[in-house]
Amino acid sequence: MKHFPIFLATEGQRIVLSGGGEAALAKLRLLLKTEAALTVHAPAPAREIVEWAAGGRLTLIERAVQAGDLDGALLFYAADEDATEDARTAAIARAEGALVNIVDNLSDSGFITPAIVDRDPVTIAIGTEGAAPVLARAIKADLEARLSPVLGRLARIGKAFRHKAEALPFGRTRRNFWRDYYFSDGPEAFDSGGEDAARVALDDILARHLNGPDREGRVDLVGAGPGDPELLTLKARRALDRADVVIHDRLVSPEILELARREAVLVSVGKQGFGPSVAQDDINAAMVGHAGKGAHVVRLKGGDPTVFGRLDEEIEALDAAGIPWRIVPGITAASAAVAGIGQSLTRRRRNGSVRFLTGHDMKGFAEHDWRALAREGEVAAIYMGRTAARFIQGRLMMHGAAPDTPVSVIENASRPDQRVIDTCLSRLSDTLDAAGLTGPALTLYGLAPRHGRAEAARPLQEIAL
Ligand code: SAH
Repeated sequence: MKHFPIFLATEGQRIVLSGGGEAALAKLRLLLKTEAALTVHAPAPAREIVEWAAGGRLTLIERAVQAGDLDGALLFYAADEDATEDARTAAIARAEGALVNIVDNLSDSGFITPAIVDRDPVTIAIGTEGAAPVLARAIKADLEARLSPVLGRLARIGKAFRHKAEALPFGRTRRNFWRDYYFSDGPEAFDSGGEDAARVALDDILARHLNGPDREGRVDLVGAGPGDPELLTLKARRALDRADVVIHDRLVSPEILELARREAVLVSVGKQGFGPSVAQDDINAAMVGHAGKGAHVVRLKGGDPTVFGRLDEEIEALDAAGIPWRIVPGITAASAAVAGIGQSLTRRRRNGSVRFLTGHDMKGFAEHDWRALAREGEVAAIYMGRTAARFIQGRLMMHGAAPDTPVSVIENASRPDQRVIDTCLSRLSDTLDAAGLTGPALTLYGLAPRHGRAEAARPLQEIAL
């Protein structure tokens, strides 16, 4: 270990930085988080530095560093981005006893600034001794995504609760108490009601753990997005990270299921169009059964759980069983599909509203306000529209829609095998018959692919009949 990580006490200390450009700004943004008194030497300071000085957050001296300036300073940053000037200022600082960092010059620096994940008072410093800054950034990004943004505030609240937590026996029980607070109940309470709710949650979790080892089960109704794992929300990722049981639709991609906690039990309830599917009652029973035994269940649905997801039926079953639940929204197929053709769902002077339609419902092909939809400029995202294509086409044309109204069908939106079919209303059904779709497909009525853009975003295989 050439560099030993430590946490430096900055309260009441002085830190001096020389430089007024980008490198200086990057360091100052970090240093402003400390309790140290900051002095910046810059003959030509960036606007932000002048503003920080005016706001009393640092002292700005608009001239270069001279001997005597460092008197008693703890740290010095040479950030002029000029090798000669940096060597000169660093030599002064060293002679005056400060620990020196020269930006982008590892070998002449007495210390380096790590990549920092800031959940103050929880701070994580990541260093690679200059070997792989890319790696440090990747690790930082990973941790940023994993740790609740309010972890630091939870830690402050938690600290004041430590003496109460001593009512729990030392060891596993107490560890489980803190785990629940920091990784599930705490962040959730904070989300819904801020610090006060987090404090109430602490009392609740404590009462629960004092009453015995049984955890209260609950269900997160989570949107898995359209398939690309990167389109998962951070909340969804965290829920998957903590789940005991994941009950998922067949639409959910394997890459996303990979993200579930290793010990989690995965239950497929294969709902997909007309394929074999598990009855809704059985899905409800599975959720209630697992959560009733104390499991943290993630009910993972493709896209957004509130869009054609039979969410209300599931919520009613959970309410009837007295099981707590919450909804974690996701990116719906319409959003991914329209991105895939480089278009916008709404557009000034074209359409001020957009409809989400289902091609079929419990009774068969679904009826809609065809007359309204047939008007020029209307846009609709049609879910589960493949088998209903001929019906939809006929209804719209019967109500006066122009035969050449553009229609795009996006199969496997956001996935590596995404395919865009560019057609028009009068040819919709024939085009789909010829295309031989196998994956989930969304029909965007009233929108054609914006060719150049869509191709730049993702290679397209287009079929235009
Ligand atoms: N809750 C989901 C929709 C469930 S209904 C959502 O918000 O996206 C299932 C229908 O969604 C499919 O028949 C198809 O029309 C559409 N769909 C889901 N994922 C899709 C994808 N990746 N590409 C295209 N369409 C998709």
